[in-house]
Amino acid sequence: MLEKKELEFLEELLITPSPTGYESGGQRVWMEYISDYSDKVESDSYGSAIGKLEVNPDVMTVMLEAHADEIGMVVQHIDDKGFVFINKLGGSDSTIARARKVFVHSKKGRVSGVTGNTAIHLQDNKNGGGKQPSWKDIYVDIGATNKEEALEMIQIGDPITYTEELEFLNDDVISARALDNRIGGFVIAQAMKRLSKKRKKLAVNVLALNSVQEEVGGFGARMMSYRHMPDAALVTDVTHATDSPGIDNREHGLVKMGEGPTVQHGGANHPKIVDLLEEVAENNKIKIQHEATSIRTGTDTDSIFYQRTGIPSALVSIPIRYMHSPVETASLKDLELLIQLMTEAVLAMKPDQTFSVL
Ligand SMILES: [Zn+2]
Repeated sequence: MLEKKELEFLEELLITPSPTGYESGGQRVWMEYISDYSDKVESDSYGSAIGKLEVNPDVMTVMLEAHADEIGMVVQHIDDKGFVFINKLGGSDSTIARARKVFVHSKKGRVSGVTGNTAIHLQDNKNGGGKQPSWKDIYVDIGATNKEEALEMIQIGDPITYTEELEFLNDDVISARALDNRIGGFVIAQAMKRLSKKRKKLAVNVLALNSVQEEVGGFGARMMSYRHMPDAALVTDVTHATDSPGIDNREHGLVKMGEGPTVQHGGANHPKIVDLLEEVAENNKIKIQHEATSIRTGTDTDSIFYQRTGIPSALVSIPIRYMHSPVETASLKDLELLIQLMTEAVLAMKPDQTFSVL
């Protein structure tokens, strides 16, 4: 099970803002942690970071991957009265963006703000009463009385995050903004920790990659997998737990929070790696769930598997409720099971492992 120190690291990852395109703060936290469990730590020019366990230069390398960025918002325009108009970074949902506490992350420091919400008594059609807002309707009030005053605190292009941090709903269920995908970075770091402690049993090289800019197109993973060209990849991201009210399981399948990570089948997910994951889960009694990929996985797996001549890859996901909201919710049990699955899958790999399907 997860230790207290490990949960402290999880909390640090979650409270350090890492909006897409502005991940450096979070990446520093991750690199520092993983340096204790890696032979080498590196980053590229855009800030994707890796930790490596180098067992033998002549054997295959498996990559564990997660994306480091979180969705957010960005300052787009400041009007004469000092109100700050914003746009989304990645797939943020404008319909839940009113009446929220936010932080604007400026070069001078963190500025507190709230997204305005016209009082119910004053609402009419003109100020958006009764209708779902789009991003042009959302503005942040940072307490400034005019544009000049606002510009002394922030500037156009500053990223914005919600203020939600880590909340334990009980001993097992956590809620926070940015579980997508700070928990992925946490999981691959813990897998590296366990693998580094079992180094003598390790037959392959391991590379843990925490990639930037997944939420806007999987760019960091693309750059880094092209650069390092691992022989196989295990990718982790969040997936939709579809066990909360109002979700049609005929349309979206049934994935339950707390019932184990999901293994995805089809598309970019290489059948031999999927077989290996299922075998490892069975042998080690690790509970897993199953998901079908329709066209794309919607994760960094889509960026990794077709690099150069192809990297056999598979996606293993953590079910979360309320994805892309400030109250994303997950079970620590699923995190622990995924760490076990990734660790055991790497330990089961042979130095000359091949993944030919024919
Ligand atoms: Zn994600």
